[in-house]
Amino acid sequence: MNAATDGLLAACESALAGVRQARQAFTPGLSLRETGTVAQVVTGIARVSGLPGAGQDELLLFPGDLYGMAFNLDEDGIGVVLLGDHAGVRVGDRVRRTGRVMDIAVGDGLLGRVLDPLGRPLDGGAAIDTGQRLPIERPAASIMDRAPVGIPLQSGLKVVDALIPIGRGQRELVVGDRQTGKTSIAIDTILNQRGQDVLCIYCAIGQRASSVARVVANLREHGAMEYTVVVVAAGSDAPGLVYIAPYAATSIAEHFMEAGRDVLIVYDDLTQHARAYRELSLLLRRPPGREAFPGDIFYIHSRLLERATHLSDERGGGSLTALPIIETEAQDISAYIPTNLISITDGQIYLSPSLFELGVLPAIDVGKSVSRVGSKAQRPSYRAVTGDLKLAYAQFEELENFARFGTRLDDGTRRIIDHGERIRACLKQPELAPVGVPAQIAVLLALSQRLFDPLPLAQMAQAERAVRDAAAMIPAALCRRFESDHKLADAERDAVIALARQALAGFAPTGQDPKASAP
Ligand code: ATP
Ligand code: MG
Repeated sequence: MNAATDGLLAACESALAGVRQARQAFTPGLSLRETGTVAQVVTGIARVSGLPGAGQDELLLFPGDLYGMAFNLDEDGIGVVLLGDHAGVRVGDRVRRTGRVMDIAVGDGLLGRVLDPLGRPLDGGAAIDTGQRLPIERPAASIMDRAPVGIPLQSGLKVVDALIPIGRGQRELVVGDRQTGKTSIAIDTILNQRGQDVLCIYCAIGQRASSVARVVANLREHGAMEYTVVVVAAGSDAPGLVYIAPYAATSIAEHFMEAGRDVLIVYDDLTQHARAYRELSLLLRRPPGREAFPGDIFYIHSRLLERATHLSDERGGGSLTALPIIETEAQDISAYIPTNLISITDGQIYLSPSLFELGVLPAIDVGKSVSRVGSKAQRPSYRAVTGDLKLAYAQFEELENFARFGTRLDDGTRRIIDHGERIRACLKQPELAPVGVPAQIAVLLALSQRLFDPLPLAQMAQAERAVRDAAAMIPAALCRRFESDHKLADAERDAVIALARQALAGFAPTGQDPKASAP
């Protein structure tokens, strides 16, 4: 025999020895595994027979690592919601029980990431494993564990912070027709949390991939991804994934809240969520009710939004503020899903397409918007100026329609309309440009002192900008007072008003030539 054959024999011997060793080390054990069979598959749904022990909401494993959730437990089988593409599932496929409910990775490792509701990365980054997981469906905090909403959550939008303030732990609905700036309001609020010690979750539900990509790009560009987690179930995903997305996102948020952090969560949008649930329910042959939605449609949203709260100090004092978004059709806020959500939440921001067309952006209709708890959390420095503002603006909105007919107006009415037009001009704001507290207070104080009233409307944009720029000169100690629980002293108010007056000195009052008034 030659040397090559010797070598081969020796290699075979050592491999055999390895196999022998492995066989000795192996102790056979019995593991009981319940398996069922796929009896029927339709879009997003499978019927499985032969799993009598499966529990409600239990995760079932299909071939190809596809998970499903046991949704309908009937005597002759189970209706399963598939959490992925149904195309690979065939009748007769084996289905295994997992003995657990759907859960998701939670923790600081998620910040800056974009993931799907199953916790799989969508940003091309490494697989996500934070070492901690929470079920996606969890009971909300009990009444005794909750504390009143007492700290404002600044949105950076003048009109919201002044007239419809939001508190940490509040649920504020953003409602409006399509393309009225709903997502922009939520994104601006996230951008404004930079440096505020508030973590943010943006949950895209059934949105177009292009709009989600735009949101993520905006968040990245403005440095907001550092403190944000994005959970995405796109419109093209399985309805099961779309349905579980907000629950998964809420568990991620709750983990932070229970660690004592302040968290903001945006659900964009719950109309798509309701539609996905309707689709699943109809496919599962649950009886349809109003607008073909199933009977428990109110419950799926209330149990989601009840999880947003402000925890008591004994539970760590964290908070979860929710901004659910709802899309209306032809401004019908009395449709089924919008009325449900309005009754569940603590107020709504209503976006009007007619204001949007007029270029009043953000297109918030102040008359139809309300914040039921946030106004109690508003800082005294704001409250001192916004009371009058709200009244003046409401009066203006009422009279505005008369003015449109070219009716002759008496001086008093004219003054109210002029002032209202300037309030509206001051509350306009471009997107992706949140305004800080000192600049907001300076503009609001200038408005309440009617410093803008003599200026022509055409100059309002520059005048408002000048007052905001002047706010940079407000001393840091005074800026801190704005955010404290103390009322502003008269001298402090006067100092800010003097700054605003100075900034407006270069603008010409109506009917005067700017050059003539310059010194
Ligand atoms: P959809 O119904 O498609 O979800 P939406 O209601 O979420 O739309 P956005 O996508 O936020 O609306 O905004 C619609 C358009 O209005 C966008 O092109 C956006 O750039 C513009 N827009 C929104 N807010 C402002 C603003 N304050 N200033 C200028 N443009 C704005
Ligand atoms: Mg949107």
